[in-house]
Amino acid sequence: MLHNISSYGVLSLLLSVIPASALLKRAAPGPEACADLTKSLGSKTVVTSVLSLDYIKSRMSYFNTEQSKYRPSCIIYPNSTEDVAVAVKAIRKADSRFAIKAGGHNPNEFFSSVDKGVLIDLSSMTERSYDEATELATYQPGGPFGDIYDYFLPWNRTVVGARLAGVGTGLALSGGLSYLSSQYGLACDSFRELEVVLPSGEIAIASEHTNPDLFYALRGGGGNAYGIVTKYTVQSHPANTFHAGVVVYLFQQNSTVLNAISDFIRYNQDPKAAIIGTYMKLPTPDLDLNLDEAIILFLVYDGPDSGSAFNNFTSIPHLLNTLAQTDYHGVVNMPLPGGAELSKGRNNFRVTVHAGNDEGIANLNQLYENWRAWSDKNKGKYILTSFDIQPIPKTLTDASNAYLGGNAMQMPDGPWYWVNYLLTASPLLSDRALAEVQESYKGLVEEVPPTEGLPLFINDAMRDQNPLRTYGGYERLKGIKAKYDPDGFFSERTGGWDFS
Ligand SMILES: Cc1cc2nc3c(=O)[nH]c(=O)nc-3n(C[C@H](O)[C@H](O)[C@H](O)COP(=O)(O)OP(=O)(O)OC[C@H]3O[C@@H](n4cnc5c(N)ncnc54)[C@H](O)[C@@H]3O)c2cc1C
Repeated sequence: MLHNISSYGVLSLLLSVIPASALLKRAAPGPEACADLTKSLGSKTVVTSVLSLDYIKSRMSYFNTEQSKYRPSCIIYPNSTEDVAVAVKAIRKADSRFAIKAGGHNPNEFFSSVDKGVLIDLSSMTERSYDEATELATYQPGGPFGDIYDYFLPWNRTVVGARLAGVGTGLALSGGLSYLSSQYGLACDSFRELEVVLPSGEIAIASEHTNPDLFYALRGGGGNAYGIVTKYTVQSHPANTFHAGVVVYLFQQNSTVLNAISDFIRYNQDPKAAIIGTYMKLPTPDLDLNLDEAIILFLVYDGPDSGSAFNNFTSIPHLLNTLAQTDYHGVVNMPLPGGAELSKGRNNFRVTVHAGNDEGIANLNQLYENWRAWSDKNKGKYILTSFDIQPIPKTLTDASNAYLGGNAMQMPDGPWYWVNYLLTASPLLSDRALAEVQESYKGLVEEVPPTEGLPLFINDAMRDQNPLRTYGGYERLKGIKAKYDPDGFFSERTGGWDFS
């Protein structure tokens, strides 16, 4: 009894000194931000029901399906820059976690996915325009690049963006390698003005003249770090008739094709000719027939006739050659009409970079042999592994560096090349086995160190590769990040590149 009386006494004392409002239970940060946003933006823009079709679509449409396991407290579909600003302020007030999603192709967890926080899905922001007098194009961040290209095609113009129609606009903030890059640089090199919601929730313009430091960081320094871009104004480029297609080889041609790719990296001088060289391993048993392996070359020439530009590839015995005249829609929808998308799955990317000199080209052969050996040894653990070679010629780095002294990557002179490694792990693996195979894949990529002084492409990198640190502009980026995100709101509350 005595004990009860004294407990009661302490409780009364507490009640007399703590304000009543503080005793009301505070919602968790995610639901609190969502409730606030539902009030200000309405329930059409803010979806909280996990059973809503919009919610399911947003949650399920990740290239790396591991991200679909997370459950946002709500998903908001802003219709305007002002909506995005309201969202950032509410998220900040509630101190909630959040993520910004454009196309959902970045495989790094929490880059465009969030658990128990606010997912800002930009898919409803799809306004576009074209000004014939200035040849400037504008697009909002919603919708895949394929839709953006189709919008500008009636003017026979296009913008520099993804090589596959299905990829989203987040690609451009991390550089953006296109079939047109050898002529015009990366996607971000064509930016002329960006509208941005800053981490403070304020709306700002970034251009050569206004907030030039922010403009620099957004030209290739990565998404979700310095703010949310709500409108891109970019230099457009001509898009007329292309000569493009895929050439498919049996694996018996592996070294002949690799030699032809090496020569293309080193010697191609024609900026209108672009390629991706893809080697693939499938999960089917090998049976010593090599039928589990394929080589696909994507060949794109900006002009109706590629002349002799691809002769070194087409003269090698092949199974299929679809080279033909097409428009830009056809280019980005190769190899299958309407099927321009790599499959969703337990996907991870990794990247390496090597010089286009004797040593770098010798490395290419080694990288390929290592990848092939790894793929043979790890049968059963994946659905697909691929080894994609992406040449970076000097014409590309010249075009990039010609605008305002170059982008955040500060691209060293070509030629050099990136290799993008894709691993689609088997759905049958336990979480632990998945982590093990991903770790082993990481080891494979690290076996041959990249050429020092060349940048790892952030669009093809995993977070642990710390690619931004390989950028010529890294120290400057760090300062800009500290200026525009001074209290580390974006660093702490959403996933993304590490600046510490
Ligand atoms: C099938 C496939 C093909 C690809 N092809 C190419 C290619 O041709 N060239 C190339 O360079 N790369 C390519 N990539 C890599 C691709 O560029 C990256 O995966 C990129 O992150 C995808 O952008 P997204 O909008 O689809 O993805 P998201 O995951 O939605 O966005 C990527 C990142 O940017 C942030 N972000 C997006 N929009 C904004 C915004 N408006 N403001 C601030 N932050 C934002 C997101 O938060 C996220 O961190 C390809 C990837 C895949 C899976």
